[in-house]
Amino acid sequence: MSDRFFLAEPPTGSHGVLRDDEARHCTRVLRAKVGDTIRVFDGHGSEWPASITAVGRDTVDVALGEPLPAGASSRVPLTLAVALPKGDRQKWLVEKLTELGTARLVPLVTERGVAEATDAARVRLKRGVIEACKQCGRNTLMEIAAPATLQELAARHPAAVRLVAHPGGTSLGDQRRTSSGQAITEIVAAVGPEGGFTEEEVAQAVAAGFELVSLGPDILRIETAAIALAAWVTLAPTRS
Ligand code: SAH
Repeated sequence: MSDRFFLAEPPTGSHGVLRDDEARHCTRVLRAKVGDTIRVFDGHGSEWPASITAVGRDTVDVALGEPLPAGASSRVPLTLAVALPKGDRQKWLVEKLTELGTARLVPLVTERGVAEATDAARVRLKRGVIEACKQCGRNTLMEIAAPATLQELAARHPAAVRLVAHPGGTSLGDQRRTSSGQAITEIVAAVGPEGGFTEEEVAQAVAAGFELVSLGPDILRIETAAIALAAWVTLAPTRS
């Protein structure tokens, strides 16, 4: 049973309010009552023990205790730009990337992309992020960023090590330091649609400073490629 709830609004002093889905999950699904102790997190890295002080129709009031100590992360922040797959595969992707600590997911706009990241779709994805955070213990939400093309992505992250997963690229193991030997502070990695990137997109990506990297000899589905990249970042390079 999950006893962690997402506090969407900043608390006022030691008073917080759970609303909507979170309040309903707390009282209707888990049957929490006044006096019960839960934990709440704000999505920006803070977490508190909290006791329920009042239960309304769609609200739960809580009194926060002392903030719980935050675990330091040595992870290099990863922005993953992914040509979103459809339906349940999207939901699954968001769950796994949240668990693996990806900082930000950008719906990648490509020629052959099949799913559009509408505002409604992004709200749904954000809900998936919250669910996954509640379950896995992560206190910082994975951001669902506005959609972008590869060029827009390069412009947004000029200082990042920029990678495009592309069959036939160079081995991923070679990208763990910058070419000038500097510490890596941010990684941006892009995954294309099931139909692959067009030759023009690949040329534009290289011109925008992306390196083409291989994820092995076989062709992976979009989600597998994204998860392989997220796992590589979470397990290997550290901030120095
Ligand atoms: N037929 C397409 C494959 C698309 S797979 C093609 O030949 O390009 C969907 C996306 O997953 C690709 O655009 C790429 O970003 C990533 N991907 C899948 N397998 C990969 C591999 N072995 N190496 C690098 N990237 C891969």
